[in-house]
Amino acid sequence: MKTTGSVTVVGAGIMGRGIAYTFLAAGRTVALVDVNAAALDSATAAIGKMFEAALQRGKLAVADKPQLSEVLHRHLKLDDFVADSGLIIETATEELAVKKKILSAAAVIAADNALFATNTSALGITEIASAILEPSRLLGMHFFNPAHKMKLVELVRGLQTSDETVEKARAWLEGSGKETIVINEMPGFATSRMSALMGNEAMYMLAESVASAEDIDTSQKLGFNHPMGPLELGDLTGWDTRLRVLKYLHQVYGEKFRPCPLIEKMVQAGWHGRKTGRGVYKYDEEGRRVPGSGLSISL
Ligand code: NAD
Repeated sequence: MKTTGSVTVVGAGIMGRGIAYTFLAAGRTVALVDVNAAALDSATAAIGKMFEAALQRGKLAVADKPQLSEVLHRHLKLDDFVADSGLIIETATEELAVKKKILSAAAVIAADNALFATNTSALGITEIASAILEPSRLLGMHFFNPAHKMKLVELVRGLQTSDETVEKARAWLEGSGKETIVINEMPGFATSRMSALMGNEAMYMLAESVASAEDIDTSQKLGFNHPMGPLELGDLTGWDTRLRVLKYLHQVYGEKFRPCPLIEKMVQAGWHGRKTGRGVYKYDEEGRRVPGSGLSISL
């Protein structure tokens, strides 16, 4: 299936920047939208660094490096440029109302054949799709963090998502070097449901002083061959996003997803993870983890 047009990415946070890079590196033009100008600035700088790193690692030829100012367009709100996009991806804050508002506004401007996607970690695709006039054209496109490096994208079908929409989404992603799996909508899909549960349990273990943060992470890395421990992963994801996901899954599936109170406290303290320089671990200005900085709880 042929894919045409630019890509609009709404939300320039942790995920939006990696998603924007994925499509830029595949030769697309990207419109990156965020209500926060500082997020757009830091995303632009981060995307520049991603290109530099790809050049250094030999993953990109110098001749293929685009002039960023020509292919990456930044906007503080949705506008006529959306009409040129074949794919519109919402990856803003994990709140249903925010997502519905963005997608319904985009749908009014978008071309008739545009594809709509949400990068929600856990929210209901059917409900998000109800915000647009043709819900059959929307699906979940769940990227993983860091989005420019992780191969998998989980495609999530809502009740109304058409087969054509799924095929179009595959074509966009496989043309950009990603692999896809298709999930029928259930809260938390296949990935977040499992990962939220593990991260929550790891936080309960930390709060109960079962072991140090470092040892809890090492238990999963060396014991089960996970590339990252659950606490490191929570720091990467952001505990604010994790908490929103857990609260939603708790509502749907009940007790087993009740958020650990330590996560609530960390979010209140602004210890969201790597993005705020402190989560379970501390990070220096270059984003490197400070050795021996794991949070310790004394009972
Ligand atoms: P983030 O907090 O880093 O970024 C969210 C961005 O959305 C912010 O820059 C904010 O200014 C912007 N925003 C909020 N309202 C907006 C609006 N109305 N219009 C435009 N921009 C708006 O969050 P994130 O970690 O990038 O997560 C974004 C989405 O991706 C969430 O739905 C999250 O659940 C999902 N997700 C996150 C991860 C992860 O590991 N962080 C992984 C997969 C999916």
